[in-house]
Amino acid sequence: MIQINNLSCGYNKISVVKNISIDIKKGSFTGIIGKNGAGKTTLLKSLSGLLKPYAGNILLNGIDIYKMKRNLLAEKLSFMPQNMPIDFPFSVKDFIMFGRFPLMNLFKYATKRDYEKVEEIMDFTETKNFAERNILELSGGERQKVLIAQTLAQETDIIAFDEPTSHLDIGSQSAIFRLLRTLNLKHGKTIITTIHDLNAAGEFCSDLILMNNGIIFSSGTATEVLNYKDIETVYNTTVVVKTNPVSNKPVVIPVFSEK
Ligand code: ADP
Repeated sequence: MIQINNLSCGYNKISVVKNISIDIKKGSFTGIIGKNGAGKTTLLKSLSGLLKPYAGNILLNGIDIYKMKRNLLAEKLSFMPQNMPIDFPFSVKDFIMFGRFPLMNLFKYATKRDYEKVEEIMDFTETKNFAERNILELSGGERQKVLIAQTLAQETDIIAFDEPTSHLDIGSQSAIFRLLRTLNLKHGKTIITTIHDLNAAGEFCSDLILMNNGIIFSSGTATEVLNYKDIETVYNTTVVVKTNPVSNKPVVIPVFSEK
């Protein structure tokens, strides 16, 4: 579905992501992992159409996304940034409606269908009970659900998330990842997300890309990628990898004590 070919991209003419090639499968829940500064966000931004490659290309169903019209790409792929600054006291409902902006008619006014869609998304994301509240007054977990709702309002088949659970407690993290899993498994969305928490990556992602210093160190299923040797090499720390007996998915336990 998405083919990344010899991609190099970065900032101020310096490549952060260096000559990487990988395919992202339709219907996958793909996680991008790796330590801070590895280039995860840079890769995600580039494959979302927000950071033009210095070399190589990104094809979506065979078409170079940087040669597609912006509105056509916006119909196919949405991107939820990390730590999006919000400084205006919008109501939750209005804020979610903004997600439909790229889809709206020429005059950019909301139609009955736009209102219906926002209602449906608020039901799905469990944001309806604070629909009228000021977005600046929400808890971290509520705010994150609203950001996801806004991204869903764009109604694309592919959704890219940059650290959707950063700064959330484990209960809120789990709620957000379960929501993404439902989108993936029940609604057929292709999910691509950067993710810090290796346990969540193991549990929720069908496919993982492990980045290190701007290149792909390894990729494959969660079980293939989350082996203790590779994780210890990349993160430079000791870990124990177990299998969750319920889900049969890998669990990565950092061992912080010194030898
Ligand atoms: P990760 O998401 O894996 O933590 P990033 O892709 O955010 O890594 O960053 C990779 C590298 O690119 C880092 O060295 C970072 O300092 C640099 N970088 C990130 N954003 C910018 C930017 N806007 N301008 C210049 N350098 C940046």
